[in-house]
Amino acid sequence: MEQLKKDIKSIFPGLAAAAAVCTVLTLVFGTCCPMRILTGLPCPACGTLRSILALLRLDIGEMLWYQPVLPLVLAAFLFFCYIRYYKKQSRKKLFYTMISLIILISCAVYVYRMRVYYPNRPPLEYTHGNLLENIGR
Ligand SMILES: [Zn+2]
Repeated sequence: MEQLKKDIKSIFPGLAAAAAVCTVLTLVFGTCCPMRILTGLPCPACGTLRSILALLRLDIGEMLWYQPVLPLVLAAFLFFCYIRYYKKQSRKKLFYTMISLIILISCAVYVYRMRVYYPNRPPLEYTHGNLLENIGR
């Protein structure tokens, strides 16, 4: 329990700053995705919040549509919570290996989905009014 309190204390400032930045970006640009703001294209993480909200509604089909990698991320998160807070171990090498693997899988899934579904199905749609489009005018 002590470790969990320490971890929450250490990540809280970063999470609060990220939430503040995301809120400001959403108010100004209508999205907090830097890639979408800059290029109008979705990034590999686009749809994650909608995926989590679908999971909370137990709509598994929609959860998988918006972010197919979410179950893998949740499994890794639960696994590392078990290792850190129950087994009381720090497995940094395994942690970074799994994070790298999840990023690689996310990029592969993103490329596949962009080839098959872009630009007609959210979250894989083009966003007009992005910064590059405005610079080109
Ligand atoms: Zn994005």
